[in-house]
Amino acid sequence: MKTIILPSDDAAATLQTVTGWVSAKGHFYGVDERLARYDGSTHRPCSECGALIDKNAYCTPCHEKKELQKYEKMPRKKWDGEAMLYSDVADKYFYSDEDLQGYLEWNGEPASSLRLIICEPVYATEIEIADVYEDSLPTDDDYRVPRELVDAFEELNTVLREEKIILSWTPGKFAVDTEGM
Ligand SMILES: [Zn+2]
Repeated sequence: MKTIILPSDDAAATLQTVTGWVSAKGHFYGVDERLARYDGSTHRPCSECGALIDKNAYCTPCHEKKELQKYEKMPRKKWDGEAMLYSDVADKYFYSDEDLQGYLEWNGEPASSLRLIICEPVYATEIEIADVYEDSLPTDDDYRVPRELVDAFEELNTVLREEKIILSWTPGKFAVDTEGM
């Protein structure tokens, strides 16, 4: 037989003193000294250069250096003037040579300083009846989608397949070869 214990019974609980790490913010971390110290701290040394930085921030000079190295490793290609370009440095997309030249002139910078990346088009993809009407279609195995709906989707999908409609652009894997730009 199972022993019965009521909340009011002495056996239900005992008052004990516990030891553990408490951060400067007053949070209890038990044996986890590392987490408690992290919680109670405001800054940390950068793992690369040792500079003191806000504990939730990244080290700006080291981050910048890493971004530059990443960009320098990218394969280079001449820009065809058609694809959009993206610059992380300027946090900006350029949709034409005129647009780019205007920016460079205004800011008095050479194209090479923008770390330009050639973008890839994002096309409108074909759509499936099942995906669009997922929540409304009956789950009945014998159910057949009405013919006119199937035809309408097929007509739209044919256009999407053949016209290759561009919805947006996303930075691709090639950097712009800016020589002579
Ligand atoms: Zn650093």
